[in-house]
Amino acid sequence: MDTRDYIRLEEELGAHNYKPLDVVLSRGEGVWVWDVEGKKYLDCLSAYSAVNQGHCHPKIQRTMIEQAQTLTLTSRAFRNDQLGRLYQELCELTNSHKVLPMNSGAEAVETVIKAVRKWGYTTKGIPPDQAEVIVCENNFHGRTIAIIGFSSEFQYREGFGPFAPGFNVIPFGDATALKRAITANTVGFLVEPIQGEAGVILPPSGYLTEVRSICTDHNVVLVLDEIQTGLGRTGKLLAEEHDGIEADVTLVGKALSGGFYPISAVLSNSEVLGVFMPGDHGSTFGGNPLACAVARTACRVLIEEGMIENAEAMGDYFQSQLKAIRSDTIKEVRGKGLMIGVELSAEVGGARRYCEKLMTRGILCKETHDHIIRFTPPLVITKDQIDWAMERIAPVLSGS
Ligand SMILES: *Cc1c(COP(=O)(O)O)cnc(C)c1O
Repeated sequence: MDTRDYIRLEEELGAHNYKPLDVVLSRGEGVWVWDVEGKKYLDCLSAYSAVNQGHCHPKIQRTMIEQAQTLTLTSRAFRNDQLGRLYQELCELTNSHKVLPMNSGAEAVETVIKAVRKWGYTTKGIPPDQAEVIVCENNFHGRTIAIIGFSSEFQYREGFGPFAPGFNVIPFGDATALKRAITANTVGFLVEPIQGEAGVILPPSGYLTEVRSICTDHNVVLVLDEIQTGLGRTGKLLAEEHDGIEADVTLVGKALSGGFYPISAVLSNSEVLGVFMPGDHGSTFGGNPLACAVARTACRVLIEEGMIENAEAMGDYFQSQLKAIRSDTIKEVRGKGLMIGVELSAEVGGARRYCEKLMTRGILCKETHDHIIRFTPPLVITKDQIDWAMERIAPVLSGS
């Protein structure tokens, strides 16, 4: 089979819910991936920041294999010897008090919506079925029915209604809008510290600090969706640290397993997760020993191997190199750490073409919306590898 055969199988037999670049990958190591023809690429997407630790990290891989040979799934009907230790390590790492493990990011979001609603009814005395959760325009929190119901992206919703009520959408980065939107029935504010899928949109400085104090003043649970920004991506363990604040609930996923296994978690430092009683919520695979063991090692290597500091240093370097490209093609380079967006001018006809060109030169990245290219390589990237990438990116983005 060659590249064309693999693509044909996917096209004929799969649902067309993605439009991938036509590269068929079969191997990965660190920042590098190889296609079925043996061609090497530098991965500048990192599976939407799920492989922050680099592809097939040897220590996570060893844990995965060892745990797979020991015990993989018990269900939560019984306890297992990995879960409590994951809780302990996550709480210590993120200064949280309680953890609820799930599988995907969207499930963590669904979980927190249930939790803040019940918290509102039991602690704030909100009348039944009246709880409101405030979210932001251009949010991305996943693809389940409840979540897409409060998306402001036409395509995410179109054709999929009816949707769940109880959500109120306000502009991102506007603390006054939050203050105005809060009612007696507001239970939570769900927001990304930096909007990733929307195109690496940073809020005005001071926004999160203001949001923190508004939520405290009005007894509203502040939920930060750090599924993409968390676990080192922005040069801090959690993006909230840039503003010196602490959310009441933090959602992590993606890099929580370093790309080996779907695992997400709701981390809570208030009484929010305390509302769940036996039977209120669950997941067959959530908190399974394989996922827990993998997550423990994935978090450990982030710290032990200095990946977070590297993300900060290499992020600054990569951004400065991208900003140095003199070209009418580029409208703006922005980001934090290794979460970088390059917005192209509207006149150049979309980012897709540029991603395809970069692919032929050995750089894998993906457009988000029409005009933005996201550069989010694994956090283990070195200066030499960025230089290697820039030799290929600069000519493509300067149109030569
Ligand atoms: C990817 C992502 C999600 C959804 O995670 P899935 O694992 O794809 O369900 C939620 N929120 C943010 C900010 C994300 O980037």
